[in-house]
Parts: sequence; structure tokens; C-alpha cells
Amino acid sequence: MNITATSGAGAMLAAATASNDITIKDGFIADPRVVDKRVVELEHGAMTKVDAIVLHQTDSSTMNLDHAKADGIGAHFYIEKDGTIYQTARLDQSVYSVGKIRSRCDDAHTCSKDEKTAIDKIMQSKASYGSKVKELNTHEQAKAYPDRYPTNGDSIAIEVVGKFDVKTKLFERPTAEQTESLKWLTKALANHYHLDLQSDVFRHADISYKQADEAKGLVFQ
Ligand SMILES: [Zn+2]
Repeated sequence: MNITATSGAGAMLAAATASNDITIKDGFIADPRVVDKRVVELEHGAMTKVDAIVLHQTDSSTMNLDHAKADGIGAHFYIEKDGTIYQTARLDQSVYSVGKIRSRCDDAHTCSKDEKTAIDKIMQSKASYGSKVKELNTHEQAKAYPDRYPTNGDSIAIEVVGKFDVKTKLFERPTAEQTESLKWLTKALANHYHLDLQSDVFRHADISYKQADEAKGLVFQ
């Protein structure tokens, strides 16, 4: 062992790096901080690459996996209010969590003229809103990340437990324990999959058609 790394700032840096260094075994994070709570119904086929992490909030006061078991919709991870991280699906499996994505270039006002025309043609058609959203999603899915938002096929989903208040239209703010766990997990996954914390972590409300506040109050770095 290098003696300079066993004391002072070097040791602290080494410890910090090591703490976010995870081992993934059979699709599960092998770390005492992560509890294996696999729900087989959530796994929908091989996910061969990970481009991004998408953050969600459950709209529940405690973790309830009954819905996930019944409809197969949910995340790879759930973070309870006490900060416990439950892993519910293997990381090499795709989960149904993102839903239909919006147009990234349209949101950012960066579409080419032809692309903007194509998107407007879809969204200004006389079809129902639901079918327009569906068609735009299909159109976007044909693009490669990061020209589009992440999809179920290339992203890891993290749900933070928190209830939505219909009056204020806001989700519960995360507990300190949830924030600490979310920071650790997001950084560990970003390190492992070579993702950029600044550009590859998304809040569900920003990429799909969800309550505007979903995941907005989460702090991940
Ligand atoms: Zn969500």
C-alpha cells in the first residue's frame, strides 16, 4: 500500500472514491446499503446499455409494491423515508417507468427546421391528444440518446417514496436520509455506467407527461 494514501487528504479521497465504487452481481448491487427486494413482474427484457438515470416519486407515504406486482410498472430502486434502498429489478433488465417521452429538441428549441415541421405536424393534427402523444413518442424513440430523452430501454429508474398533495400540486420533500441515499446511489450508478451527473440524470416530470413537480424537490448531488 502506498503510504501517502493511508493518511490525510489522500486517504480521505481514496475512501470517498471507494465508497461509491459498486460491484454488480447478477444484476444486483452487492452492497450492505442495498436490500434485494426483487419483483419479477417488473423485469421486461434485457437492457443492454444504460444512457441515463430517471428520478421519480411514488405518490405514496410508504413503499407499496402491490401495484408493481399487479401491473408490472415500477422502478429498479425505491428509497424509503428512512433512507433504505430497495432494489426491485435487475440492472440488466428494462422496467416500465418512463412512459411516453416528449420531444427533447422541441423542449430545448433546438430542432432543425425540418424536424420542427415534423413535430408540429404530429402535434397539430386533428387526432386525439392521446394519440398525438403516442405518435410523438414513436417519432422520438427512433432517435439516439442524447438527441432524445431517455426511455425504458436505456435508463435506470429510481423512485423516492413521497406523497403528492392534490391541493398544493407538490410532492412531499425528501427526508434527509432519502437525500443521503439518493446521492450515494446516483453517484455510484453514474460512476459504474460512466454517466455524467450534470447531463444524464433526469427528473421524470421534465421528460414525460407527469405532474409538473414530480422529482423536482429531489437532491441527488
Ligand atoms: Zn415517475
